[in-house]
Amino acid sequence: MGSGFGGLFAAKALRGAKADVTLISGTTYHLFEPLLYQVASGILSEGEVAPPIREILKNRRDIDVRLGWVTDVDVAGKMVVVNYPDGRDRSVPYDSLIVAAGAQNSYFGNEQFAVHAPSLKNIDDALELRSRIFHAFEMADLEEDPEARRRWLTFVLIGAGPTGVEMAGQIAELAHRALRGQYRNADLREAQIILIDAVDRVLPAFAPSLSEKAKKKLTKLGVDVRLNTRVVDVDATGVEVKTADGGQRIEANTKIWAAGVAAPSLSTRIAEATGAETDRAGRILVEPDLTVPGHPEIFVVGDMAGSDLPGVAQVAMQGGRYAAKTVKKRLAGKTDIKPFKYFDKGNMATISRFSAVADLGKLHFGGFLGWLLWLVIHLFYLIGFKNKITTLLHWMVSFLGRGRSERITTVQQMNARNALNTLGKR
Ligand SMILES: Cc1cc2nc3c(=O)[nH]c(=O)nc-3n(C[C@H](O)[C@H](O)[C@H](O)COP(=O)(O)OP(=O)(O)OC[C@H]3O[C@@H](n4cnc5c(N)ncnc54)[C@H](O)[C@@H]3O)c2cc1C
Repeated sequence: MGSGFGGLFAAKALRGAKADVTLISGTTYHLFEPLLYQVASGILSEGEVAPPIREILKNRRDIDVRLGWVTDVDVAGKMVVVNYPDGRDRSVPYDSLIVAAGAQNSYFGNEQFAVHAPSLKNIDDALELRSRIFHAFEMADLEEDPEARRRWLTFVLIGAGPTGVEMAGQIAELAHRALRGQYRNADLREAQIILIDAVDRVLPAFAPSLSEKAKKKLTKLGVDVRLNTRVVDVDATGVEVKTADGGQRIEANTKIWAAGVAAPSLSTRIAEATGAETDRAGRILVEPDLTVPGHPEIFVVGDMAGSDLPGVAQVAMQGGRYAAKTVKKRLAGKTDIKPFKYFDKGNMATISRFSAVADLGKLHFGGFLGWLLWLVIHLFYLIGFKNKITTLLHWMVSFLGRGRSERITTVQQMNARNALNTLGKR
């Protein structure tokens, strides 16, 4: 279940198993989430980060790919209920179930913030953010009132984890470098990019020295980093923040939420059906072999599994592979199944072109070296030869030159949030 890192790597690792594999996913593609911010900032196209799952698995005759959302699990009958795009429900039987439905963004109970501060989790989000960012520059150029123009040129990012840092760095690059000279009325050098977090450092999952490096680089790029600052309200034209010294309002039309994740509602359904416990974020607490307690036939991997492991792609990939190998072992009658062991390959985040931080256990890299590592590793893991080539070309255009080839947005992308909400599709 799911065509993200967990689901895809599980499906791939089931090669050679004497099994019929059904891959059910709500999307037709495998989304490479770590590069979504580059779609939102006009560097890459959505196709480059989301290759079609049928194309990836075209040589796997043993896999039946189905588009649909799993809404329920019948544990006793060993079936999942799938809601197809035309609204029909179908039951799909299973002997073993690998659940890799990921996570969703959390507004910590303030879901109303989403209308004014979209987050970045899927292609829809990335294209909506792209529209909002480039629209803000257009509006700043049209606006004659200095205060209104300032509101269009102020960008607030809430959450200083990798997504907040990467988006802040990209908007700063757009305003101060890539789009320079293209607007006759607005001076993009006046753009204010404000990165806010309630904790006391950026990239808290990284080593403190790398957090410090990242903060220095962001400040050099013109990003106003405000730590120990809590966002308490978000509306159409700004945010209210609280610090130890009191409250303040920041006027800004463009806000981006990068502050938290929670398990999808399916997690609650599976927990109810199996009696499994969940953690504070709603993720299912699994056994050391990634199965649901009392249900050795159901695995939960990746972001949806509650554990002390980070919510990163490697955990999902390794978990998916492990679950598939366990299924294969069981089919072969083997019983020597060891607990899942995560091999931590480290953490990376880009700040701007030629600058990234890489936390590889005892080895810490920043600046250009960190960026080179980031580039090589992301190219390596990006799926599809064609995608690697076009991504590399787009990177050359954006990093060596000043171009942003993917600036186009449509009225639909800008306004579709309300329509999707009405249809109950978000
Ligand atoms: C913007 C962003 C940047 C990130 N950057 C990094 C990074 O730099 N490095 C890193 O290691 N990690 C990064 N991550 C985290 C990483 O992408 C996740 O940890 C990883 O994708 C988790 O894999 P997964 O398989 O659990 O879930 P996902 O990859 O999210 O896949 C979930 C899949 O399940 C499907 N699905 C969901 N619900 C259902 C349902 N009910 N029925 C059917 N299908 C369903 C979805 O369509 C999707 O295919 C980033 C995440 C985001 C959002």
